[in-house]
Amino acid sequence: MAAVTIGACQGCGACLLTCPTHAIRPTPGGLTVREDRCTGCLECLEICPVDAIRATAEPRGER
Ligand code: SF4
Ligand code: SF4
Repeated sequence: MAAVTIGACQGCGACLLTCPTHAIRPTPGGLTVREDRCTGCLECLEICPVDAIRATAEPRGER
């Protein structure tokens, strides 16, 4: 299992559009990552302009 944590989000929406598995969803308080859908590809982390996304577990199949 790999997942990301979103903090300091500016709400630009780039990560929602980038996530290939649609694991990132808007919530009333900001964004949430569905860990059951997150593959750990970290594309969201790379696209975030304010570095609001952090990996919380070893990405699957990478490194
Ligand atoms: S790491 Fe990949 S699968 Fe997981 S939320 Fe980010 S873009 Fe989506
Ligand atoms: S890319 Fe970063 S700033 Fe933009 S919505 Fe996602 S977490 Fe928030």
